[in-house]
Amino acid sequence: MPAVTVPDLTVLPRLAPPAPDAMQRPVRAVHTAPRGFEGEGFPVRRAFAGAELSELDPFIHLDQMGEVEYGPGEPKGTPWHPHRGFETVTYMMDGVLRHNDSLGGGGVITDGDTQWMTAGQGILHIETPPEELVVSGGLFHGLQLWVNLPQAQKWVDPRYQDLRGDDVGLLSSDDGGALVRLIAGDLPGQAATGVRGPGSTYTPIVMLHASLSPGAQLDLPWDPSFNALVYVLSGDGTVGTDRRPVRTGQLAVFGPGDAVTAAAATKQDSRHPQLELLLLGGLPIREPVAWMGPFVMNTREEIQQAFEDFEAGRLGSVPAVHNAPTDLLVTETDSPLD
Ligand code: MN
Repeated sequence: MPAVTVPDLTVLPRLAPPAPDAMQRPVRAVHTAPRGFEGEGFPVRRAFAGAELSELDPFIHLDQMGEVEYGPGEPKGTPWHPHRGFETVTYMMDGVLRHNDSLGGGGVITDGDTQWMTAGQGILHIETPPEELVVSGGLFHGLQLWVNLPQAQKWVDPRYQDLRGDDVGLLSSDDGGALVRLIAGDLPGQAATGVRGPGSTYTPIVMLHASLSPGAQLDLPWDPSFNALVYVLSGDGTVGTDRRPVRTGQLAVFGPGDAVTAAAATKQDSRHPQLELLLLGGLPIREPVAWMGPFVMNTREEIQQAFEDFEAGRLGSVPAVHNAPTDLLVTETDSPLD
């Protein structure tokens, strides 16, 4: 896994552990991600498919892209497609992804880079492997997270943040057995280290990628106003103080509290020597969600408007289709923290 790695964790600032009286968050549920295909046919795991939107709020959708070893000519991307009403966060661990948008923006992300796109009022974009990678094939592993925007910010102008792997905030766990890469936000009680993630969202979140050596334990202080989700990118381990087993492609949803714990099994498979976890927390928006395909709004009428605007070319001029749910999904969110 070339996503920023550090050979000697002892040189990194240490994570301050949770306070002794911290309330450990219980594991509410573990969901197993179904496999599917996205865009022109690249393999994904739909990480959030088993969870309620109310448990995920402010997150909407997460695809783990790969991990897949492409043969020559096999790498695939997406066609041109629109988005409105949320932000996409694309994090590449292995391989290369190129993006271009209808406003003339674009860039290339690779090993440990993150591309953050605020769709806001609307944009069209395309995500593809570069031509040389299509020719050669190779390892491809990344993820794309959708972060909702509150009603008041759904109509902001689109913007990009291109975050280089080198900008990610690095910490070592207290026992030196885990590397924590902060991609966005920060963890409570770490002010002394000054380490935080470079990504900035309209909705406050924390997003981190942790690699745990066999047998290592990760104890993280967690903002009590945030939700808490742990997704297993690869490996075997446990979550919570009751050590619930989790493996590749599973999502753990935590209840309220101010600390989160996870641990790596003492034995990992030979291809993935470490337990790789994505940890997410965010301030729930607690607004109704109307989601269809590439649009995430508050009402049915706004979804209809988005499709009309797209068809009329008001989101840009490149024709497109996309998948994700083809039926309108409307929920009244109530936070799991209530
Ligand atoms: Mn997209």
